[in-house]
Amino acid sequence: HDESLARDVDAALRSIPDFPEPGVVFKDFTPVLLDPALRTRVVRDVVRRHRGGVDVVVGIEARGFIIGAVVAHELEVGFALVRKEGKLPGATHSVSYDLEYGSATVEVHEDAIRPAQRVLVVDDVLATGGTAAATCDLVERCGGSVVGVEVVLELGFLDGRSRLGDYPVTALLTD
Ligand code: AMP
Repeated sequence: HDESLARDVDAALRSIPDFPEPGVVFKDFTPVLLDPALRTRVVRDVVRRHRGGVDVVVGIEARGFIIGAVVAHELEVGFALVRKEGKLPGATHSVSYDLEYGSATVEVHEDAIRPAQRVLVVDDVLATGGTAAATCDLVERCGGSVVGVEVVLELGFLDGRSRLGDYPVTALLTD
C-alpha cells in the first residue's frame, strides 16, 4: 500500500462536525477532487489493483459516481449506477436495508450488469456498510460477481466490513 498516498489523502479530507445531523462527523472528500495530482494518484491506486480483472465498475450515488466513472474510464470497462429509489428510468432491481432510523432503498438497471460479469463497487466512504452491502446484493441479483469494494475512507469504528461478508474490501485510508 502507498503510505504517502494515504497520508496525503488524510491531510486533504475535511471533517465537518454535526453534518448532516448532530453527532455525525462528515468526511468531505471534495478537496481531493479539486487537487488534480492527488485525485490522479487515488484513481491510479484503485486501477493498479484491478487492471484486467473487471468487466463493469459500479458507482454508488452520488460521490461514488465521480471516482467510479474515472476508474471505469481508466480500466476501459463499462460504468453502472446504483441510485436511491425512484431515480433510474428503466426496469430496476431494488434492495432495501435498515438504517439507524427507518430504511433506505437502492436500485440498479436490470440490464446494467450481465450474468457472470466481474464487478468492482466504488464509493467515497464506507460507514455502516449498509449501502455497499445492498449494492453487492444488487450486483448478484443481476447475476454479476463482486470482485472488490473500493473506498477512499473506511470508518473502522462502524465495522462496515462485517456487513460485507467475504467481499474483498479495500480502503485507501481507515479512520
Ligand atoms: P453507509 O451505508 O452507512 O456505509 O454509508 C452510506 C453512504 O453515506 C456512503 O455512500 C457515504 O458516502 C455516506 N456517508 C456515511 N457516513 C459518512 C460520513 N461520516 N462522512 C461522509 N460520508 C458518509
